[in-house]
Amino acid sequence: MAPLRPDGGTDDDGDGDSDAQRCEACGQSLAEATHRRVVSAVDEDQVVHHQFCTEACLETWLE
Ligand SMILES: [Zn+2]
Repeated sequence: MAPLRPDGGTDDDGDGDSDAQRCEACGQSLAEATHRRVVSAVDEDQVVHHQFCTEACLETWLE
């Protein structure tokens, strides 16, 4: 019943938040954000998703 963990799931190198999404304006963890906004942009032929915890942060970032 245990889910497979191909990488072992250990996380002891002090940098365990590589998967954590953070607001690009204020740095708040998006896991705690209830009004996320996502903006998709194309940067040098790659689609980049910019994520924000609130619309206010999105607007701050756009300025
Ligand atoms: Zn924010």
